[in-house]
Amino acid sequence: IKNLQLTQSNQSPQLTASTATTYPIVETFHSIQGEGAWFGSSAYFIRLGGCDVKCWFCDTKESWDASSHPRQTVTDLVRQVEKAKPAIVVITGGEPLMHDLRPITKALQKLDVRVHLETSGAHPLSGEFDWITLSPKTFKPPVANIYIHIHELKVVVAKQQDLGWAERQADLVPTTAIKYLQPEWNSVNANKLIFDYVRQNSQWRMSLQTHKLLGVR
Ligand code: SF4
Repeated sequence: IKNLQLTQSNQSPQLTASTATTYPIVETFHSIQGEGAWFGSSAYFIRLGGCDVKCWFCDTKESWDASSHPRQTVTDLVRQVEKAKPAIVVITGGEPLMHDLRPITKALQKLDVRVHLETSGAHPLSGEFDWITLSPKTFKPPVANIYIHIHELKVVVAKQQDLGWAERQADLVPTTAIKYLQPEWNSVNANKLIFDYVRQNSQWRMSLQTHKLLGVR
């Protein structure tokens, strides 16, 4: 059914390859964006299953195995977003770029909503976005040709050496990209490390996971 495309007027209902495409969905929920440049905005999150980066600090390890999550069609996902009426829809994961994101973004771009992506960049970019947040990981670094598309760089910091990695990543994104250092949630020294570093290096901003501080998703 994925490739079915009925276009003649006497063939109804119309079913296109795009809207019939399915994705493994870990969860969808309406919240506020708790991190980064769009902090505080009404946001509908679509968390896709599947990740092969496997960070030790991952707080969504249940997302790694795509096959363990039920699939939903683009049509179903778009209906949810239409009903929620958020300012932005955030496609996240897992690592969402393990999937071809052209069908879902093509459908979402027809709505009155900004379409954002949060990615480690470990797989090639697909789809059309209004905003891309790159959160690169040393365990599986971004593909080379993704950096040019980045609006926001967000590097998770647990220890001193991570700041060097952050600087090397910052050299690769456009100069217009907003650059954030975000403390790894369970690393006790990370807050102070970033606090001190940002005071000395003004091209960086500190990002806090305010949704966790508030105790919401
Ligand atoms: Fe978890 Fe994201 Fe790392 Fe994948 S890239 S392991 S989802 S933190």
